[in-house]
Amino acid sequence: MSSTARASAAHSSSSSNRPAASGEGEAAAPPPAVPPPTVPPPAAKPAGAGWLGPRGRRAPKASILLANELRARILGEGMPAGTELPSEVELTRESGLGRATVREALRLLESEGLIAIRRGVQGGIEVTRPNLSQLSHSLAPILTLSEAPLADLVAFRMIIEPAVASLAAEQASEDQRTRLVELAEHGPGDGYQNEVAFHVLLAECAGNELVRVLLMVPHDLLRLHLGGENITVEDVREANRAHHRISHAVASGDGADAARAMLRHLESFRDRMERLGRLQQPIVPRERWLKDGALLREVLQGEWWE
Ligand SMILES: [Zn+2]
Repeated sequence: MSSTARASAAHSSSSSNRPAASGEGEAAAPPPAVPPPTVPPPAAKPAGAGWLGPRGRRAPKASILLANELRARILGEGMPAGTELPSEVELTRESGLGRATVREALRLLESEGLIAIRRGVQGGIEVTRPNLSQLSHSLAPILTLSEAPLADLVAFRMIIEPAVASLAAEQASEDQRTRLVELAEHGPGDGYQNEVAFHVLLAECAGNELVRVLLMVPHDLLRLHLGGENITVEDVREANRAHHRISHAVASGDGADAARAMLRHLESFRDRMERLGRLQQPIVPRERWLKDGALLREVLQGEWWE
């Protein structure tokens, strides 16, 4: 067997998924017209040309590194809200970074809701608790751009909220049960604000922090969309009757009844939106960002919360 023939056999077995040629008889096949392809040596790729090449990697900005360090201290040391951090001048001195870089790091933490910066003579930096509306602040633009229909929000609520009502009936404290019944009996109040407040309190009653935090997003979206709907006095009354039933089921500890009452409440809401032809429209129609900018800012800046 010539060296060319051996190269040919090796090539044919390595470059296909067929079983390797068996027996010397096949070595009589004619040699390939072109040499087998070769893998270019690594040096053939110019340094830094790939998307992971050295030129593509940028060191994190100094401001991000400083923000990471401060965030790690705040969360890692469990600093309570109100804890004073070193001033901007002290941080500049300690870190050896420029003032603009330190400011950028602080602005980043401020936008995350981890610190508040007081300016002026009485200035300083203190640790704060992030506002839950930050979640909606991040998600509302995503859901607006994807034009998620109101049907998605309604379906999400129908999956989650009956379970929340049931959990609330098991977990709520006496004080929470009383507050829930009072809120339901308080009357229609200011239309949709009272509607949303009831569902927020119910989520608190469930005694599950993840449920409470994650339900803030649909509830904030609910404010945004209800604020623009044509809600009649009868709608508000009907919602209030439903809240009344749910609150009493929760107060008496009947989880199954609370879940059923919640499901009926959400079904009736879904049917109404369907009659209005709203279900397949976006949760927050695009034009409302222009028309109701003030309301959207209020909701997204967390002025409704805490
Ligand atoms: Zn309701």
